Amino acid sequence: MMLYKNRIVNDHEVAISPFDRGYYFGDGVYEVFRFYNGALFEKDAHYRRLERSAEQTRIPLPYPIADIDGNLAQLLRAEKVTEGIIYLQLTRGEAPRGHAFPKPPAESVLLAYCSEVGRPLQAIRNGIRVIVRPDIRWLRCDLKTLNLLPNVLAKQEAVELGAEEVFFHRSGIVTEASSSNVMLVKDDVLYTHPANHLILHGITRAVILKLAFRLNLSVREEPFTLDELRHADEVFITSTTAEVTPVIELDGVPVADGKPGPVSRRLQGAFEEYVGSLNK
Ligand code: PMP
Repeated sequence: MMLYKNRIVNDHEVAISPFDRGYYFGDGVYEVFRFYNGALFEKDAHYRRLERSAEQTRIPLPYPIADIDGNLAQLLRAEKVTEGIIYLQLTRGEAPRGHAFPKPPAESVLLAYCSEVGRPLQAIRNGIRVIVRPDIRWLRCDLKTLNLLPNVLAKQEAVELGAEEVFFHRSGIVTEASSSNVMLVKDDVLYTHPANHLILHGITRAVILKLAFRLNLSVREEPFTLDELRHADEVFITSTTAEVTPVIELDGVPVADGKPGPVSRRLQGAFEEYVGSLNK
């Protein structure tokens, strides 16, 4: 089942045009929500980010958030899944190919579906290996747009090298990863890149920063260098699907002793508790 044209329909009822600008320009934005126990996690933050991505790319949201929210709840009930993700995509719609916006405006196309996805427990427990590459993306990485080719190519390179994620850097400053945010711990201080135009303002990043404050950890939203990354006590990534996943190897070199560290473990515990408290 999918959410399409403001209704829950069977997959075969979805007919997206080959002239959809999302198809030939990547002219669209998206969101990935997680649901635990049948309930969307941090949904208001995801809706706010969707509204912002839509506004900044000037793609009109075709329905009010309240309608989308009602429909996503209906989608989850129809699919009878309790743990997984919802992928939602909004494109500028169908029009003959031309870079400028269509005139009159096309009807934007909003589509969403859910997939059953478990938590990546093994990676959360054991950590992952990461490679580091230049950040060749544009300067509006705060917008969650469909233009993910640099991320796709980087992740494929990681996979081919037996790693699970790629960290991006701009002239030696670590920005984020191909589909997650990056945090490091040095001398009991948690560092992460400021939420500006160079990174996606991750919902999980924000949750973890909130939990870190609650745990009385020192937090600095400051850029850090590749050298600082390589000398960190702990490194981990945050994302809707990865939650808090420790990084145990960077370009084949162990991070500290090559095992997930104590701050990462505390934040993982706090995150689990937080998720659990929402589902009571
Ligand atoms: N950065 C990038 C480039 C991403 O694709 C993602 C995943 N959406 C994130 C960070 C993490 O964001 P979130 O915690 O909202 O999933």
